[in-house]
Amino acid sequence: MHNFEFIRPADQAAAIAAAAQSKTAQQGADVRFLGGGTTLIDLMKLNVETPARVLDINRLPLDKIEVTPDGGLKIGAMVRNSDVANHAKVQKDYSVLSQAILQGASAQIRNMATTAGNLLQRTRCIYFRDTAMACNKREPGSGCPAITGHNRTLAILGASEHCIATNPSDMCVALAALEATVHIQGPKGSRAVAFGDFHLLPGNTPHRETVLEPGDLITHLTLPAPISGSKQVYLKLRDRASYEFALASAAVVLTIASGKTTHARIALGGVGTKPWRSSEAEAALTGKPATEAIFRQAAEAALRDAKPQSENKFKIELARRCLIHALGMATAS
Ligand SMILES: Cc1cc2nc3c(=O)[nH]c(=O)nc-3n(C[C@H](O)[C@H](O)[C@H](O)COP(=O)(O)OP(=O)(O)OC[C@H]3O[C@@H](n4cnc5c(N)ncnc54)[C@H](O)[C@@H]3O)c2cc1C
Ligand code: SF4
Repeated sequence: MHNFEFIRPADQAAAIAAAAQSKTAQQGADVRFLGGGTTLIDLMKLNVETPARVLDINRLPLDKIEVTPDGGLKIGAMVRNSDVANHAKVQKDYSVLSQAILQGASAQIRNMATTAGNLLQRTRCIYFRDTAMACNKREPGSGCPAITGHNRTLAILGASEHCIATNPSDMCVALAALEATVHIQGPKGSRAVAFGDFHLLPGNTPHRETVLEPGDLITHLTLPAPISGSKQVYLKLRDRASYEFALASAAVVLTIASGKTTHARIALGGVGTKPWRSSEAEAALTGKPATEAIFRQAAEAALRDAKPQSENKFKIELARRCLIHALGMATAS
């Protein structure tokens, strides 16, 4: 691992001021916040991330889960993934989030990983993690060998000619379906970003993954008040039952009245370049009978724009079946 300076900022303002010196908050940033380190330290060992300064923010007071005045939930940036998954209100009112977290990584990693760190985990594309290979995300303008190489696990939605990497997070798929908001404090003050606007499509700047600017510290997430009586399911399909990323996953939040879907929030994982909210599937479900025939139409709509790569055409049908099955599980529960 290369040399770097390790700093423990005294407070939030000091952390933001130190990070604001960096020329970018994205890939290649020379200043990095450290959460649980399960992404950052991994990538530093591989020389994929080479920050000059690492700011340990673990002692900042951002580690609480609190109910908001409107009945929603506020989750601090430093709350560990396991603490979110096992929180009583999350399990009761936002169970899709608990299910998604518990199907990711391992118990040890979930105990270390933080809420903000999970939002900013990097792709598992093998070329990105190998500095001997070209990669537009790691080294802008160098090329994308995945397009003609190994791309079985990569994206079928949202890709560009410059990058086809999948966003690997499970937690973020649930947060997309729950319509979370990301709260950020930066050198110019605080702002709130709707979850769907936080991650960026690769376009011709795949190294820019989020709307974060230098100095921006994620302070917390908020979830809107739960929808009474909603059925929630996270279904993850992968090559092995644990310690593996999704080939396809679906987060489903549904309310049914008199046999019809009155409210649907749908997001897909393992298939998109960002956590993939499907307004097409939501529109296909809302106001319609909660039947398998309608679930099939919703799954068709969700994958209509999918563009497979040479090795991952199977993901289109896999993702369809994943969503149909998740909808079936939600309505059967
Ligand atoms: C073997 C293995 C298997 C895994 N399997 C899965 C899986 O199946 N599903 C899944 O979803 N994930 C999986 N993961 C990924 C894991 O969930 C992430 O590594 C973890 O969530 C990252 O959180 P962290 O706190 O450790 O982040 P860190 O490594 O500390 O930080 C990640 C990034 O976030 C930035 N950052 C951290 N906090 C803040 C903040 N407050 N504001 C701004 N920037 C910040 C850091 O600078 C860094 O760039 C796996 C990881 C490993 C190592
Ligand atoms: S898919 Fe993206 S991350 Fe993978 S090699 Fe291409 S540019 Fe790099």
